[in-house]
Amino acid sequence: MILHLTGLAWTAELPSHGITEEEDAIHRLVLWNIDLTLVDVARVTRATYAEAFAAIAGRPLIQLPQTAGRSESEIFFDALALNGVDMRAGGEAEHMLEPFSAELARALQARHDELTSQGQLLPGATQALAAVAKLGGTVQTVLTGNSRPTAMLKLRAFGLDGFVDFDIGGYGSEAYPKGTLLRVARQRAGDKHGVTFGEDATVYVADSPRDVDAARIGGARSLGVASGRASAAELREAGADAVLPDLADIGTLVTLITRLTGPEPLAAGA
Ligand SMILES: [Mg+2]
Repeated sequence: MILHLTGLAWTAELPSHGITEEEDAIHRLVLWNIDLTLVDVARVTRATYAEAFAAIAGRPLIQLPQTAGRSESEIFFDALALNGVDMRAGGEAEHMLEPFSAELARALQARHDELTSQGQLLPGATQALAAVAKLGGTVQTVLTGNSRPTAMLKLRAFGLDGFVDFDIGGYGSEAYPKGTLLRVARQRAGDKHGVTFGEDATVYVADSPRDVDAARIGGARSLGVASGRASAAELREAGADAVLPDLADIGTLVTLITRLTGPEPLAAGA
């Protein structure tokens, strides 16, 4: 299910708060990272990755590439190079990405029970998505290194899929750097809703310094969440506009999202 929050619903919910029509209109885009921001399914992802890599590259995945904050396509080509696949133009690596992506999604589907038995929902993730879904004039989707089918599987396993509109997301199977991918997602959201989501109307909630870079390059505010491999200090150092230890404090999260995408600039150090 996709939640479409219209101005009408917002007005109906809060009839006596003096919400103006201008505030009702769609004006805010919230992009969520998935891995280590909303869910931790690293173990099953790694196992699935090795399986799909062996099936497509025809050799075992021995050297593991860095994965934090990177896209499926980046990780795949790095893995090929690290594991001795011919990377020259016309070499065997070409044309492997698409079948790999499909194989990875198939392998994860086959292991989908393990997403919940071996993985976990991160604290506050469900409540955070639910709270943002209730914010007036807001649409939310994912900006992730995962392909769309993999992203959907991971969120569906934990009952999070109904909160986001997958049609307007940005996915790691698309061979763009993440900052460009953010622009693509913003454009998709803008086209769908007939509005322009500017830099000050878009926020990326994510756990990696690479995501902070992507927000800067892609034109969005960044809200760092230190639930991944990076510490709060590292996220701040990377230039995050705000940092939270995790998603557990829903009140603060919503305040930060609202302020980062609102007319008043956020005070430094918030
Ligand atoms: Mg992440």
